[in-house]
Amino acid sequence: MSTEAYRRLDRDHHLHPFTDFKALGEEGSRIVTHAEGVYIHDSEGNRILDAMAGLWCVNLGYGREELVEAATVQLRELPYYNNFFKSTHPPAVKLAEALCRLAPAHMNRVFFTGSGSEANDTVLRMVRRYWALEGKPDKQWVIARENAYHGSTVAGLSLGGMAPMHAQGGPLVPKIAHVRQPYWFDEGRDTSPEAFGRECAAALEAKILELGEENVAAFIAEPVQGAGGAIIPPQSYWPAVKEVLARYDILLVMDEVICGFGRLGEWFGSLHYDLKPDLMPIAKGLSSGYLPIGGVLVGDRVADTLIERGGEFFHGFTYSGHPACAAVALKNLELMQAEGIVERVRDDIGPYLAERWATLADHSLVGEVRSLGLIGALELIDPDTGERFDKGLAVGTLCRDICFDLGLVMRSVGDTMIISPPLVISRAEIDELVRLAGAALDETARRLGKGKCA
Ligand code: PMP
Repeated sequence: MSTEAYRRLDRDHHLHPFTDFKALGEEGSRIVTHAEGVYIHDSEGNRILDAMAGLWCVNLGYGREELVEAATVQLRELPYYNNFFKSTHPPAVKLAEALCRLAPAHMNRVFFTGSGSEANDTVLRMVRRYWALEGKPDKQWVIARENAYHGSTVAGLSLGGMAPMHAQGGPLVPKIAHVRQPYWFDEGRDTSPEAFGRECAAALEAKILELGEENVAAFIAEPVQGAGGAIIPPQSYWPAVKEVLARYDILLVMDEVICGFGRLGEWFGSLHYDLKPDLMPIAKGLSSGYLPIGGVLVGDRVADTLIERGGEFFHGFTYSGHPACAAVALKNLELMQAEGIVERVRDDIGPYLAERWATLADHSLVGEVRSLGLIGALELIDPDTGERFDKGLAVGTLCRDICFDLGLVMRSVGDTMIISPPLVISRAEIDELVRLAGAALDETARRLGKGKCA
């Protein structure tokens, strides 16, 4: 089928996620046909370096035969059976054990879901159930952060703090509050990063006091905010939040959907920041995105109560622990261990990316460069003012489109450009990524009439 034929059928029949349907219909979709390693290919013959690992998920890169084989073998053996009604199957059991071995020592149970959004729905159900079983049914409020992304189901949307989503999706799930995010570049530049990190932790404490500790069930956050703009908090933030949480009896939920499975150079972002969460929603890198699977890792404190006092937990999904998805996830974890992927991110390729990425700080459009492990961001600014461009100019979108044309997938969140490449990316491919990003910045500056480099 020709590109045009695909585009026509796509426009006529396919409603894409997070898309202005009319605008896309006029413009036409890019048809991605195949991929290998860190490159995707489109129907017009372009080869594009995928610096977003799909949607932050293809951690082992494209074309891993071992994952294909694991799915194929499992689909032949047992393509589907559920985990309801006192049943289970080998892939679900083996994956549960493997995950709990990798998780922090106090996390020994997992509840499977089909996605990250379903994982966060499960979180909301679990924390409220936990406190009810503890005889504290008033502890229902969950505190999340502004500009957080926790998924697109109604619970995910409500836990998230994305204002445009809230404006469309309400009424939201009740008893979810949001506090400020530790986004120094956008919200804290009038003070030092360290002071700002502590201010954000203080805002959490103020919210707990405002709601009343006796009404607060949990605090949910990502170690590093992904979709919000690859927001790496100031060094002071997590230690200060830990101090706050230690003063109150509130569960900690770390959303590891992006940060889990090596992105920050540890198996979980919580380990990087030395946090001890009660619950960790996971998805994406769990299967390197080859098949859809998510879950919630459950710490002993919550699991013991759910198990000992719970009775039936009226919650679950047809595809909770789907055999083929679980088999692929298990193989993915095995490959990551065998190939030392997490250590490589921490000790080798993460530091290499940091060094090369930092060279973009010299560009006149760049106000800040940051990275941690294999997640990174560039903040775009108007070189004439040192401030953000007018939103109406949509400079981030312009830069993203230029990237695509030059052969690089880099995502824009407002005027923040972000990367989250496959964890298997090579040094030479990072060099290419940085070179293409620099070229895209040059072209963006040229189109804005802002000269080239500083
Ligand atoms: N939590 C976080 C932190 C995410 O980044 C995402 C997806 N981008 C989700 C939850 C939702 O996952 P899914 O799209 O698999 O439902």
